[in-house]
Amino acid sequence: MNYSKLFAVKPGSRVQLAGVKSGFTGKHENKTAATAEMQRDDRRLADLQYLLYADHQRSLLVCLQGMDASGKDGTVRHVFGALDPQGARAHSFKVPSQEEADHDFLWRAHVHAPAKGEIVIFNRSHYEDVLIVRVHDLVPESVWSKRYELINEFERNLTLAGTTILKFYLHITEKEQLRRFEKRLDDPTRQWKISEADYTERGYFPEYVKAYEDVLAKTSTAYAPWFVIPSKRKWFRNLAVSKIVVETLKSFDMKVPPPTVDVDEIRRKFHADEAKEKSSA
Ligand code: AMP
Ligand code: MG
Repeated sequence: MNYSKLFAVKPGSRVQLAGVKSGFTGKHENKTAATAEMQRDDRRLADLQYLLYADHQRSLLVCLQGMDASGKDGTVRHVFGALDPQGARAHSFKVPSQEEADHDFLWRAHVHAPAKGEIVIFNRSHYEDVLIVRVHDLVPESVWSKRYELINEFERNLTLAGTTILKFYLHITEKEQLRRFEKRLDDPTRQWKISEADYTERGYFPEYVKAYEDVLAKTSTAYAPWFVIPSKRKWFRNLAVSKIVVETLKSFDMKVPPPTVDVDEIRRKFHADEAKEKSSA
C-alpha cells in the first residue's frame, strides 16, 4: 500500500471532513499487529535521516495541524523521537509574540524553515493565520483571504530552494475530542494540558472544519501536498505519518558524499604500522 497516495489531498479537490473515517486502520487489525512494521519504519527513518544529513543537498519540512487533542504533540514524540537531534528540530507555533506580530505573518515560519540536511517539524504552523485568525476574526477577511496564495508562493519558494514539504491534518471527530479532554481530566500527569480555551475553541468546531476544508482545497499542491490522516487510533496515526515520511525520503536521490581525502593514501601514511602488525599476525 502506498500511504502517500492513499491519504493525499488532490490539488484543487474539496475534502468533506465529515465523510472521512477517523477510525480507519487499513489492513492492520490492532496496534500489536502493526508493532513490528512500525519498529522497522523507525529504523528506516533513522537511516534515511543520516543520509539526508550526510548528503546535505535538501531538507524536509513537516507541518502538523489538527484540532486540539488531535495528537500533534504525540506525533512529534512518537514519529520523530527516532531521529538524531543533530539535524532535526521541532518548532511549536504559539500565539504570536510582540516581535512576531510586528512582522508579516510568514516571517516567523521562514526563520524556522529547515536548512540543507535538516528535518524540521512545525507543530502548528503558518496555517494558524488562516485558521484561528479566520475563525476569531483576528484580522479582516480582506486580509486573511489573500493568505492562501501567499502561503502557496512561500512554499514554492522553499521547494525551489531544496525543501520538500509534507503537511498533515490529524483527523478526529468532535466526539473523540471530548473523550480525549475527559481522559486528560482524569490523568494527573496531563491535567496541565487542559485550558478553558480548549472548551471555548470546541464551541467553534464546525467553523474550524470549514476553515480546514478551505485550507485543504486551496493549499494542497503537487509540490507541498496535504494528507488527511485518520487519527482516532493513535498508533495508526503514527504509522501513517511515519510511512509517508519514509516513502518521501526514499524517493530522494541521496548519496553518502565521496571522501574528501585519498583514503588509501591516509591508510598508508597513518596506519602503516597497524597494517604491518596485521600482516605479521
Ligand atoms: P498549543 O498548541 O496547545 O500549545 O496552543 C497554542 C495556541 O496558540 C493555540 O491555541 C493556537 O491556536 C494559538 N496560535 C498559534 N498561532 C497563532 C496565530 N498566528 N494567531 C493566534 N493564535 C495562534
Ligand atoms: Mg492545546
